[in-house]
Amino acid sequence: MTNLNHTPPDVTATGDITSSSLRSAELRKDFKQKIPELLQLERLMREHNNLLHANCEAKLYYENMEFPLYSLTLGSRAPNAPTMLFTGGIHGIERIGSQVLIAWLQTLLERLQWDAGLQQQLQQLQLVIVPIMNPVGMYLNQRANGNGVDLNRNAPIDAEGPVPLLGGGHRLGPFLPWYRGRKRGQMEAENIALEQVIQRQVFNRPFAAVLDLHSGLGMQDRLWFPHAYRKKPIGNIADYVALKMLWERSYPNHTYLFEPQSIHYLSHGDLWDYFYYQSRAQNQAHFLPLTLEMGSWLWVKKSPRQLFNMAGLFNPQIQHRHTRVLRRHIVLLDFMLAATLNHHNWLPDEKQTGILNQTAKSLWF
Ligand SMILES: [Zn+2]
Repeated sequence: MTNLNHTPPDVTATGDITSSSLRSAELRKDFKQKIPELLQLERLMREHNNLLHANCEAKLYYENMEFPLYSLTLGSRAPNAPTMLFTGGIHGIERIGSQVLIAWLQTLLERLQWDAGLQQQLQQLQLVIVPIMNPVGMYLNQRANGNGVDLNRNAPIDAEGPVPLLGGGHRLGPFLPWYRGRKRGQMEAENIALEQVIQRQVFNRPFAAVLDLHSGLGMQDRLWFPHAYRKKPIGNIADYVALKMLWERSYPNHTYLFEPQSIHYLSHGDLWDYFYYQSRAQNQAHFLPLTLEMGSWLWVKKSPRQLFNMAGLFNPQIQHRHTRVLRRHIVLLDFMLAATLNHHNWLPDEKQTGILNQTAKSLWF
């Protein structure tokens, strides 16, 4: 049994890990109520510091409280190892995304103690997780960060067509949701931290994929890929079609809708549009960001009382439904690891790319 109080936290280039033991008792109690996910994550970091490399990418401040933004790395340190990045909680109120990631990470860490197959997989693959992207927003139970900015409307990229009123991103001010931040301002600290992780650990690899977990209003679980800012197909859409077919052939009983975001609506400032173009500028051939939108209407439909509180619109609130959601996406997360590691077995060659480009047109454009 690990003695939590005496296990030293991982110290990194960016600075000391802010451990919950450093917080005052009063603050710990407050965090336990309002952001238990952060304390749970810090516990995993302490218990598994032999396997997990934790880095505090940024310290965020809100009303004299300090919130660490952590990245966690497991597996291969080789600079050419294919890489899978998972992110969650970009919208603070959609905390179920962070919870799914933390629960899966816990499973992974347990399995790594005995599962030689998984150990071998991770020797050839770099796994990076940023499970709580917006800790202040999560503490406040709101979508935006502490400055009132919607982190996924904050990247310096404008939509090429009409966007939904407000929801597509606006610059009216932080008093309304979906605020993009000031024009020509820097990105928010959370996004700069993410950019730093991506530049350092995700780009310049033979293959890298991202799964960014959200929950939203809809009846179905959706897997969205860029573009969000324009209706035209993304340059590497053939890779996405190949991944979609791989998933659907391998797991025919799962029902994620796999599609470009732009067929639903356009938005300003989308992070994954922005990082995709950065990957292109750095000549990365295969960079595949995906967003998982967990359909929360399913939970609301089954429990209409949830309509009367905001958190209930975005998170399952009944125990058995909550644990079901934590289980439900494990297969997808495991699949993304396997697909990343084995990318050379399914990425299309030149001839197949031509055919899959046509397939994409007939499916979505
Ligand atoms: Zn979201």
